[in-house]
Amino acid sequence: MTTIMDGKAVAAHLSEGIRDAVEESRKHGIRPKVAFVRVGELSDAISYERAAMKRFEKLSIDTEQFHFPADVSNRAFLTKFREINEDYAINGILLLQPLPEHIDMKRVVELMNPIKDIDGMTPFNLGQVLTDESNRLEPCTPAGVMEMLDFYDINLEGKHVTVVGASAVVGKPLSLMLMNRNATVTTCNVYTDDLIGRCRAADIIISAAGVINLIGPEHVKEGAVVVDVGINFNDAGRMVGDVDFDAVKDKASHITPVPGGIGAITTTVLVYHLMLATDYQKEPVLFLER
Ligand code: NAD
Repeated sequence: MTTIMDGKAVAAHLSEGIRDAVEESRKHGIRPKVAFVRVGELSDAISYERAAMKRFEKLSIDTEQFHFPADVSNRAFLTKFREINEDYAINGILLLQPLPEHIDMKRVVELMNPIKDIDGMTPFNLGQVLTDESNRLEPCTPAGVMEMLDFYDINLEGKHVTVVGASAVVGKPLSLMLMNRNATVTTCNVYTDDLIGRCRAADIIISAAGVINLIGPEHVKEGAVVVDVGINFNDAGRMVGDVDFDAVKDKASHITPVPGGIGAITTTVLVYHLMLATDYQKEPVLFLER
């Protein structure tokens, strides 16, 4: 019987620890607060911000939104961003992407205080993933994948994992996080040859390519675990992943749906990271059970 891995169950489990941590922090007179920073009105950024806001508010976390017009100058934006970054009342920053091309993204990320970087985008936090340091803030989507695998007790040690997609936000950091857990990892990109063979050799396939029906039954060996990070919209406007779910489902031992899989976890991971960030800023008082 195939297990359909449920992102909402994973998020609910994470939320329990977050609620306790929020309560504990209040006892110490601390109210964790997140800043949402968005430039322009791109619909993807707006809908992600809305979903994340809802999640933070549901877990009783204070939020503040900083919205800038798409034509804000680079200098004005960097000046304001520095202020947000230095504000002691703000414990975490979520920078909505993409930023308009004229904004110096590299500079913004260099400026961001790594201890407030709840989506793990700064070179410092990515370096911490590389060297497998324990006190780090990871990019939240790969962190959500790891939460999903752990929740369903999927052993990684010695397993062959094929990651389809090699972006800096998902595929690359995820590959490192899997290597840190002693998996043998093959990371594929759009130029990779024999994708079918590389996937069929895997005990676990994780697809983060953004291509509808990229992974079919011919990619999946009997009993493999299949995780679908992709978020795409088909011709009928329905949200679908990279995996042909109906065709693959019966071959896999575990599979994530879209929607309701990884996407259901990522905003909760962001809140979890805010609590971690608050801990790092207020140590030696720790609010999260670790
Ligand atoms: P990206 O476009 O930056 O990177 C895509 C990667 O996939 C690239 O490395 C590319 O080479 C590779 N790729 C593309 N076509 C391929 C093919 N045919 N064969 C093998 N590799 C191929 O995208 P991204 O930002 O990494 O996002 C990937 C997907 O994950 C998108 O669908 C995105 O919407 C989704 N996503 C989901 C969440 C979530 O919370 N579930 C978060 C972030 C991104």
